[in-house]
Amino acid sequence: MIDRPTIERILDAAQIVDVIQEFVPLKKRGVNYLGLCPFHNEKTPSFTVSPSKEIFKCFGCGKVGNAVNFIMEHEHLTYPEALKFLARKYHIEVFEKELTQEEIEKQNERESLLVVTAYAARQFSENLFQSDEGMKVGLTYFKERGFRQNTLKKFEVGYSFEKRDAFSKKALDDGYKKDFLVKTGLSISHEDHIFDRFSGRVMFPIHSLSGQVLGFGGRVLKTDAKTAKYLNSPESEIYHKSRILYGIFQARKAITQEDKCYLVEGYTDVMSLHEANVENVVASSGTSLTQEQVRLIKRFTPNITILYDGDPAGIKASIRGIDIVLEEGMNVKIVLLPDGEDPDSYSKKTSNEEFTRFLKEKETDFIRFKTRLLLDEAASDPVKKVNLIRDIVRSIAVIPESISRTVYIKECSSLMEVPEAVLYHEVNKMRQQRSFQDRNKYPGPEDLPVPPPVIPKSVKHEVTTYVSEKEIVRLLLKFGSNEFERKIRTEDGTEEVTTVADYIVNEIISDDLKFDDTVCGTIFEEFKFATQQGIFIEDKVFIKHEDPMISRLSADILAESHQLSRIWKDKQTFVETEDMKLRSVVPDAVLKFKGDKIKVRLKEIMTQLEEAVKEGDKDKVLALQRKDQNLKATLTLISQQLGNRILL
Ligand SMILES: [Zn+2]
Repeated sequence: MIDRPTIERILDAAQIVDVIQEFVPLKKRGVNYLGLCPFHNEKTPSFTVSPSKEIFKCFGCGKVGNAVNFIMEHEHLTYPEALKFLARKYHIEVFEKELTQEEIEKQNERESLLVVTAYAARQFSENLFQSDEGMKVGLTYFKERGFRQNTLKKFEVGYSFEKRDAFSKKALDDGYKKDFLVKTGLSISHEDHIFDRFSGRVMFPIHSLSGQVLGFGGRVLKTDAKTAKYLNSPESEIYHKSRILYGIFQARKAITQEDKCYLVEGYTDVMSLHEANVENVVASSGTSLTQEQVRLIKRFTPNITILYDGDPAGIKASIRGIDIVLEEGMNVKIVLLPDGEDPDSYSKKTSNEEFTRFLKEKETDFIRFKTRLLLDEAASDPVKKVNLIRDIVRSIAVIPESISRTVYIKECSSLMEVPEAVLYHEVNKMRQQRSFQDRNKYPGPEDLPVPPPVIPKSVKHEVTTYVSEKEIVRLLLKFGSNEFERKIRTEDGTEEVTTVADYIVNEIISDDLKFDDTVCGTIFEEFKFATQQGIFIEDKVFIKHEDPMISRLSADILAESHQLSRIWKDKQTFVETEDMKLRSVVPDAVLKFKGDKIKVRLKEIMTQLEEAVKEGDKDKVLALQRKDQNLKATLTLISQQLGNRILL
């Protein structure tokens, strides 16, 4: 937990133009800045940054927010992570709320391990590019495989010397603790000796989403070596291979922009695709894909395309693992490479254009691919065909959305020549079994038993109330401190000014009305507190609010009004601005808000009435009818008032 004063120092320091300019080239246009939106593909800029309002808004895709929201969205960070990111940029020391002794130790250890892996990555890179052995053995290997220098630097590859304790000795000499060297798995301690895990290997650092080195993969170069060709860091406090994807740090921007992620098998496949201008690519580095890895990709895109070497046995072994991707509701596609090729070799053999075209043209939907693949060998064997159907049904059954399942059932039915009804039956049976095993995991509507028809107890959240709630918040944010009316008190002749916030707060609390939407409700509560204390709140308080939902909504609201004024200015015509009409706009919004609340209340009363009638409780029926009549009368009054004003 970062403490409040630190958060405020970070928010004060983070100048939005400065923050965004690091990622998006901006040009000054009038009082604002304009650039190409990083969140969607566009050719003409519609991404606007307002330094005075301290917000950004894209008029193309609608993304909006403050500096912290931008970092969260762009770097895929959580709120505290984004704050720390900005703190580093502005050299602000982050004070965190007290952690337990255990938490502090764990955090310190994590940080110490990260310091060691970062050091190791630097050492290995130095070895590769600057030492005789590294250049002769390691660099030659990469050059022979056709890799360019900038790619090697981009992935921070390196070389670990042949001598069995070269790295460990150097690290100890440079003051790194043996304990941490062993815990990262870089060194192995045996009795009084310390050895390198990765000797005589080219090294591939494995980065976190934010670019920290968590672990390494090392490839041995000697052909006669008796050890495994590839060796990975062991699991540690910082390296969990099931949660990491190789290349995600270098790919995340392209994955968002292309709205797709390619999945390959090896480190060099990832690097080769980058050289072929395909940068939205990651590798699961040898392990079969895990749920955590799929979710990592899902943070950036729902679309995943897996590249397979043209080896049927290998494909069959690995397609079973794909169900885990389908389960997450991802769209899975497959590209099958020509016989004998892997992504590395094939991307080098073809031109970049040919390769990109190949990926586009050969992309097949996963279930279709699997069906065809298995159908080929099951063609004339009825037993195999039954197994195939079961296999395909299992894949379809894990897909969370029923529409996608329906589409697949139709298609597989015609491919396998099995009636749709049979497939439906099998899919539903399997889903029922699954939901029995794993009850709350994927509650599709058809998994649930059909409930007996009952009258709903209460209508909790009407969509319409959100519109009027948001309008109240908009008026508070935009005009809260504007003068609403000015009265001369008859007793002593003093002048009394009511602000828009005073008026709204009084109207709403005197009727004891509540907000349904929590974000709107929180903003209202803060205005209520401020007006009752006689404090003036600036809209910036909300734009910089620590709750990202609140900062986004307020940025959105303030950006909207900004867009309107821009349109008016462009047309060069006089338009009566909203602040000239507050005397009518504000009471209208309050009436609309009250009317909506009454409508919701009326629905609730109606269901209560039905119940009371069923129970035969006459007193209750009468009381409810009275309430109903009163509310209806109020509602009529409100509509008249709103109607009258419109007529005026
Ligand atoms: Zn956009």
